[in-house]
Amino acid sequence: MWCGIEDVVGVALTQLKDSLQNRVIHIALDPELPSVPLDEVLIEQVLINVLSNAIKYSPEGSEIRIEAEKAGDRLLLSIMDEGAGIPPADRERIFEKFYRGNRTKHIPGTGLGLAICKSIVEAHGGSITASERKDGRQGTVIELSLLLTQ
Ligand code: ATP
Ligand code: MG
Repeated sequence: MWCGIEDVVGVALTQLKDSLQNRVIHIALDPELPSVPLDEVLIEQVLINVLSNAIKYSPEGSEIRIEAEKAGDRLLLSIMDEGAGIPPADRERIFEKFYRGNRTKHIPGTGLGLAICKSIVEAHGGSITASERKDGRQGTVIELSLLLTQ
């Protein structure tokens, strides 16, 4: 289905509303964004997994930013947190099944969330990557790149 990314973000945040625990959500989506060909339920699940990591691995009261822009034939969606961050050596491995970073082993999880995100995003012809924040803050950026054409 062709969907507005703002609707998909909205559904994911609604599902997570009881676990936000004082995280401040800042949403900056370009108002001119075109619709995206996607499976709504699956991409909602991707956002739920990425956002629940942003919540789980960041301190209460910190900010989570969601930004989206069009870049050529792609929509780029970034989820940024102010949490522990992911060391460069782990930034590809976190997308492997059952891989959990050393910094976060004390927080329960299975290590499956991002592996599932990667298969869903790749099934859409897109990609998902982790990087550091470009604004100098501590934290993680997860970027989804989704095709805007079929
Ligand atoms: P679950 O299957 O319950 O989601 P998980 O959160 O450990 O468990 P993934 O979501 O796949 O599994 O994440 C893999 C690892 O990547 C995490 O264990 C953590 O070390 C790291 N990670 C993911 N997102 C973040 C983040 N926003 N900040 C810091 N580390 C992160
Ligand atoms: Mg997770």
